[in-house]
Amino acid sequence: KIRVRYAPSPTGHLHIGNARTALFNYLFARHHKGTLVLRIEDTDTKRNMAGGEESQIQMLHWLGIDWDEGPDVGGEYGPYRQSERKDIYQPLIQKLVAEGYAYESYKTEAELEAQREAQKARGEMPHYVYEYAGMSDDEKAQAIADAKAKGLTPVIRFHVPADKDYAWNDIVKGKIDIEANTIGGDFVIQKRDGMPTYNFAVVVDDHMMAITHVLRGDDHIANTPKQLMIYEAFGWQAPEFGHMTLIINSETGKKLSKRDESVLQFIEQYRELGYLPAAMFNFITLLGWSPVGEDEIFTQKQFIKQFDANRLSKSPAAFDQKKLEWINNQYVKKTNPSVIADLALDNLIEAGRIEAHPDTKTIEWVRQLVNLFIDQLSYAQQVVSLSEIFFDGAPDLDEAAIAELKIEGATAVLNAFKAKIEALEVFTANRIQNIIYDVQHETGVKGRKLYMPIRIATTREMHGPQLAESIELLGKEKVLAHLNETLE
Ligand code: GLU
Repeated sequence: KIRVRYAPSPTGHLHIGNARTALFNYLFARHHKGTLVLRIEDTDTKRNMAGGEESQIQMLHWLGIDWDEGPDVGGEYGPYRQSERKDIYQPLIQKLVAEGYAYESYKTEAELEAQREAQKARGEMPHYVYEYAGMSDDEKAQAIADAKAKGLTPVIRFHVPADKDYAWNDIVKGKIDIEANTIGGDFVIQKRDGMPTYNFAVVVDDHMMAITHVLRGDDHIANTPKQLMIYEAFGWQAPEFGHMTLIINSETGKKLSKRDESVLQFIEQYRELGYLPAAMFNFITLLGWSPVGEDEIFTQKQFIKQFDANRLSKSPAAFDQKKLEWINNQYVKKTNPSVIADLALDNLIEAGRIEAHPDTKTIEWVRQLVNLFIDQLSYAQQVVSLSEIFFDGAPDLDEAAIAELKIEGATAVLNAFKAKIEALEVFTANRIQNIIYDVQHETGVKGRKLYMPIRIATTREMHGPQLAESIELLGKEKVLAHLNETLE
């Protein structure tokens, strides 16, 4: 039975790259009717962020990802937080030490740093040099006893086998073969604070949680041979590995790093902009995976049905903001408008356009406003900039608009329109549309020459959504103020 895991470190909010890893593991598990485990890798206590775990879990749920075992839902392979598994790791580390696969290392940070500098100066790749090289067992025991007497605390290092290759058949990349000699020497499996390192804990947990497939980012490829060595030392069977390519910024061609400020990279930021979770799910799935055929919009169910890990891309996935906007717009158009209106309402409140806790009249008004723009919306927050005219004073007209108002008949149209608006009691789009017809009869002006001056004078723009609806939403007071300013 297939068992996969998503294993985030709670060092921050859910990043788009991590969300992708979670999502592919989810699709893989669900497609094969297997099990998805959520495991929190929090052994690097200095890097943990308060609230990081909760925030990531919340965003995974928002995206529509759920799991069968994890710290929040339990399961028979727990605990699912590494910080709660110390008692499991300790005896296993001791076992490796007792069997000679690992040893206590007392080199101080300063000594290691000096060693690295010396290696660099000689043009060598920095690597750890075995500190007990050439010593007999007694000499080694004596060196350790001396260090202990000095009150030094050790780290525990795994003794890397010399001249061996570690190879695996990667689900994404095909055959990968790494020489043990190139990985930088004996590596730490237990830190000075007694916590296991990632490379050790991940092996123990993947083994004990009966994980069959590890799908993760290809930044972990260099770790895989280290993990294979540990599997080998314990005599455990390693899972299958698949390393997904990195995500690049399609604008710059560079790896998407958390420092790249040109792209929003945290799922929460998209939620705040009013993106729809199903659209994000759809978009992220296409980052490094492609379905058969040309279609790009699928439901979650359809993705699960057709997900095939062999179609994970071998080349980097380009993060394309325009494509995300296009996909979200596809979803906006098929979502109940009141859902979009609710999202836009939050954004309007956030922008200070509308007071928090609006009354039902205001909510209704926002619904109408959002309906005006719904087809062109990439995401709900765009309503804030699109609707400026409804909130701020009349913006100045640009030259093209001023020229339009000088066309013959424009002033007559506006005067007639203004008189009728002043007299209008029930200010609805229907009535306003009738007024425009009346103005046409009265002035004999029609078509573009009729609509353009009215549009410019009321909305201050030459283009925009349906005119009568826009005028209704502006409200009588604003419309008259704009007309007066134009006619001055
Ligand atoms: N905690 C690791 C990370 O966040 C997980 C790596 C793995 O999946 O093995 O990158």
